[in-house]
Amino acid sequence: LTAGLKALCDLPAQSLDGRRIGMYVNIGLLADMAPSMTVGAEGIGLYRTEIPFQIRKQFPGEEDQAAIYREALETFRGKEVVLRTLDVGGDKPLSYFPIKEDNPFLGWRGIRLVLDHPEIFLTQIRAMLRASIGLDNLSILLPMIGSVEELETAKEYIFQALNELREEGQAISTPRIGVMIEVPSAVYQIEIIAAMVDFLSIGTNDLTQYILAIDRNNERVAARYDALHPAVLRAIVEVVDASHLLGREVTVCGELAGDPMGAVLLLGMGIDVLSMSAGSLPRIKWVIQSFKQSDARQLLTAALECSRPTQIRAMLSQALEERG
Ligand code: PEP
Ligand code: MG
Repeated sequence: LTAGLKALCDLPAQSLDGRRIGMYVNIGLLADMAPSMTVGAEGIGLYRTEIPFQIRKQFPGEEDQAAIYREALETFRGKEVVLRTLDVGGDKPLSYFPIKEDNPFLGWRGIRLVLDHPEIFLTQIRAMLRASIGLDNLSILLPMIGSVEELETAKEYIFQALNELREEGQAISTPRIGVMIEVPSAVYQIEIIAAMVDFLSIGTNDLTQYILAIDRNNERVAARYDALHPAVLRAIVEVVDASHLLGREVTVCGELAGDPMGAVLLLGMGIDVLSMSAGSLPRIKWVIQSFKQSDARQLLTAALECSRPTQIRAMLSQALEERG
């Protein structure tokens, strides 16, 4: 880090006209936590729990998982820690649970898989809840929710685990529950979904993939994959507006949060929290501190009137250059 960027880390991410945005980090391995502390992260916005599952040779048990989650919750004591439930399938295989499908991104992934295997889901939820005892900073995030039924069932399992543990005599507080908005059907039902949870977290990586119907990992079509596509931006605006009307906080935890152009537009939308890799955080904090929210809002309005991503990129690149 340059000295200038490092000094910024101690200040909050506040726009020139006073809009404060939470700066959180995305974590995959416990080793990611040390760098997060040095950049002044205010919480963990996305703990990808599939990573510890992927580096093991079999499903980790309740004790094993609880120890991993405890370390994250303890390191960020007093700050929010968002643990996402298992999001395997798609491009994230488990060697000990092989899945063979023609269209893995449209198949058995994320919440779909664990709802078909409640024992996996319940073990993980129990581990998360037990890890939070006495710390009370746990938020549980559900990936790949595409329907109200999935969300209802997932919540029932969470409350089942909570009740079982309480009956066992454990003093566990109710966690905050949130949904990843990354499947287009969830965008179109956002009013219903937002009303059912405490917070929303937009996964722009998958949301872009599914709105544009472009594989996020296929090099042949990589040039067409763009989270700054006007269609994707409109979807994000709808999610933020509808969620705020219901008083729900919205995070963006996909790559767009760590992209300076994306951050400007998200500031304009009134996003509450940006969650990104620790390495991106100082630069994005600088971006937020360099803009007025009212200017970002004007850029957003102009961007939504553009018909193609190239126009949006040109406009934002100029706005960023003007601010150094
Ligand atoms: C996303 O889809 O934007 C996201 C944050 O989740 P992942 O990249 O783990 O699929
Ligand atoms: Mg995703």
